Amino acid sequence: MKQPPPIAFAPTALAHQPAAIKPGELTGCPWHDVKTKLRNVGLRPTRQRMALGWILFAKGDRHVTAEMLYEEATRAKVPVSLATVYNTLHQFTDVGLLRQVAVDGSRAYFDTNNSMHHHFFIEEQNELLDIPASDVVVGKAPVPPEGYEIAQIDVVVRLRRKQP
Ligand SMILES: [Zn+2]
Repeated sequence: MKQPPPIAFAPTALAHQPAAIKPGELTGCPWHDVKTKLRNVGLRPTRQRMALGWILFAKGDRHVTAEMLYEEATRAKVPVSLATVYNTLHQFTDVGLLRQVAVDGSRAYFDTNNSMHHHFFIEEQNELLDIPASDVVVGKAPVPPEGYEIAQIDVVVRLRRKQP
């Protein structure tokens, strides 16, 4: 049987691509830039989306759970419920502003870096660290069932401290 070609980890392999931000569109002002981001993907910049978007996107690349974001929002005096945080995270994911990282069944992590990359997961700290896409080569991808193609391969490498 002929082997399928290796999977290319090109950004085009991503299922969702957010609308491209045109040069000059971002001003460096986080509030304005969040508004632009939301508008570009067709989401109305409501007060809650703006507040959560600002917390998410103004601090560089990060990985958060709904609970983490809810806690931060509460600390920042943003009046928002955990359910709204969940909904907003999923809306942002659906339009490609965030990428969901499946680490375990009980917790969903959302990644503000939606470019193709992989993750280390430090089990004791429940912390995700980025691995550049080029650092992981999957030698042999499984053959998808008839009628399907592989949209994306996410690699999570679990870490624990070395035993002394
Ligand atoms: Zn990441």
